Order: sequence, then C-alpha cells, then structure tokens
Amino acid sequence: MATPLEKRNELLAKKVIKGLESRHFEAYYCPTTEEALKKALEIIPEGSSVTWGGSVTVRELGLAKALNEGNYTAYDRDQAKSPEESADIMRKAFTCDYYVTSANAISEDGELVNVDGNGNRVAAICFGPKNVLVIAGMNKVAKDIDAAIVRARTIAAPINQMRFMGKTGCSVTGACENCKSQESICSQIVITRLTKPAKRIKVILVGEDYGF
Ligand code: SF4
Repeated sequence: MATPLEKRNELLAKKVIKGLESRHFEAYYCPTTEEALKKALEIIPEGSSVTWGGSVTVRELGLAKALNEGNYTAYDRDQAKSPEESADIMRKAFTCDYYVTSANAISEDGELVNVDGNGNRVAAICFGPKNVLVIAGMNKVAKDIDAAIVRARTIAAPINQMRFMGKTGCSVTGACENCKSQESICSQIVITRLTKPAKRIKVILVGEDYGF
C-alpha cells in the first residue's frame, strides 16, 4: 500500500505535469529510481551523443554510469584529464543530441528555475543541444515561481556551493548572503517559462528526493 508521501507525490506530480505540458514540455512521473532510469534510457535513443551538467541527480540515479557504459557517444566531464578538456566537454553540450541535467526548482505550475556559476548548464538548457532531459526529485517542487526562486537561491545554491567551497558568503554562514564573489555559483539565475520548439525539453519527475 502506498505511503502518505507516495500518495501526495503522485497527486502533486499530476498537477506539475499539467503545468509543464501547458508550457509545451514533455513530462513524466516515475515513482522510483528504477522507473526513472528506465524512462530516461527509453527517451535517449541508443547511438545518441549525450552529455550532462554537474548534476548530483544524474549521478545518483545511475544514469551517468548507464550512458558511459551503453551504446552512446557520452561526454563525461568527470573523466576529463585537464581543465581544458573539461571546458571542451562543456562546449560539446551545444551540439549534442541530448543534454541531461536536473533543475534547482520547479514551480507547481511548471516553470523551471536554475542557478549557475559558469553559465554552461543554463546556456545548454536555453539553446544548443537538440534535446534537454531534466530529471528532478519531487523535493525540487515549490509552490509558485517566487517560492521556486527562493528554493533555488537559499536551499539549492548554498548546499551546492559547499561542494566547491570558495570565498562566498554561504561558505561562512550556510545562508545565501547574496555575494558577488568570483567563486559564486550564482552568476546566472534562469527561469524557463516554456520550451521552444515544443518538447525540446523533457522532464522526468521522480517520487524520491534527489540532489539539493
Ligand atoms: S552567498 Fe553567494 S554563492 Fe552562496 S548562495 Fe548566495 S549568491 Fe550564491
């Protein structure tokens, strides 16, 4: 029998999917990690060129491993041997068949919010790769666009910043201090209101917590 959290996630996911579809996203709900991984591999055809952003979700889900080991041309920044090679892989995203990422927050009515330091991830979401696959745990859903921006800036960003540390306000206090540091991961704050062309961005919502 479904737990209260599972029931709520399923119901809320329906609402978010309706919002996403009204904005021309292709959208799915997968209650478990296994189903989300299967759905992602159904969406990305074998033989595709594919890369992904510095997403905890993509790794936690096991998708990075599956793409590296499967019949894909995968470009994995984690395997880059130098900063130059890593930067080359970031640029390859713009001509890939698929770019896989998460979102820092999604409003209940289907807008995506992403915060980025170098800008490569949000650039690929906006334009370049033929398809973008966003995979996000239900922990990323926020009530409305204002709450989604607050979530991205005050929850996702300070925790993500801890992976890199650096001289930023949140590295000292754990709270977003709206810093202007060159080491900030908050250079770009991008709202994706809708996807154009239709269905270029596909979203898988997962009924488990992923990333921050
Ligand atoms: S303090 Fe700076 S790096 Fe940290 S979350 Fe705020 S703007 Fe981003």
